[in-house]
Amino acid sequence: MSKRLEGKVAIITGGGRGIGLGITQRFAEEGARIAIVQRNAPPPSILNERTVFIQADLTLPDEIARAVDRTVERFGGLDILVNNAGIMFEKTVEEMSEADWDQMMTVNLKAPFLLTKRAVPLMRSRGGGSLINIGSIEGIGSNPGHPAYSASKAGIHGFTAAVAVDHGRDGIRCNAIAPGWINSDLSEIYLESMPDSARIRRELLAMHPAGRLGEPRDIGNLAVWLASDESTFATGQVFVMDGGRTKKLPLPIG
Ligand code: NDP
Repeated sequence: MSKRLEGKVAIITGGGRGIGLGITQRFAEEGARIAIVQRNAPPPSILNERTVFIQADLTLPDEIARAVDRTVERFGGLDILVNNAGIMFEKTVEEMSEADWDQMMTVNLKAPFLLTKRAVPLMRSRGGGSLINIGSIEGIGSNPGHPAYSASKAGIHGFTAAVAVDHGRDGIRCNAIAPGWINSDLSEIYLESMPDSARIRRELLAMHPAGRLGEPRDIGNLAVWLASDESTFATGQVFVMDGGRTKKLPLPIG
């Protein structure tokens, strides 16, 4: 069987760690050429002629522009952009400073906008492309202390719909994936910050009809489909990938 992303060029922000690494691994297996864009070097084992690391801090617009330019210089164009890099912290509105709010919005919402702005003309010039934004089930509901995080994720879901509406005629599709609990540094640090994390781990598992927590490759599998020509009628959507967690209604029994 031919590889599903053969001949395609992708940027994956945060593609060297956690969920992003799962997406990078699946894209590489499907034949894509990949630019991983983040601050720290990814594990050397995933880098080769077809998967390269471009260092950039996504809070800096100049570094975003340079990362896209370098991807095009290296691979000759752009077909897929995965806006995956993101941050999370716990602060209520009372605890949060204006600078905290701005930091969350800069990484989780403004960087995807600036990257999309540069990606659209590049994709249009190749007859189309696929934009994939990593949102969250916290763009639909929220956990405690997450007003900025949830706002950024609900924002990226809305942005996804709007970009799909504006650029469908260019052959450009835009979809979001809303992961539930996926094992990564981000979710592990969150869990370990809680008192009684062992109990929470057990109860968290019980919330999942699928009987397990998510892995980065679960998100990678869906991202491959959204990036591929198998999904050309899918655009503007938010695809929840959470092992059924948000479909299980709370009941004070069992
Ligand atoms: P991790 O913390 O494990 O990884 C975050 C990635 O983002 C890293 O590769 C990091 O690279 C990159 N990044 C962060 N800040 C910047 C920056 N300023 N410039 C460039 N790159 C940056 O997180 P996850 O893999 O868990 O999360 C990935 C995405 O999935 C995020 O958008 C998150 O909100 C979302 N998500 C995660 C869930 C989960 O359960 N894990 C659930 C729902 C959504 P570096 O530090 O080297 O720059």
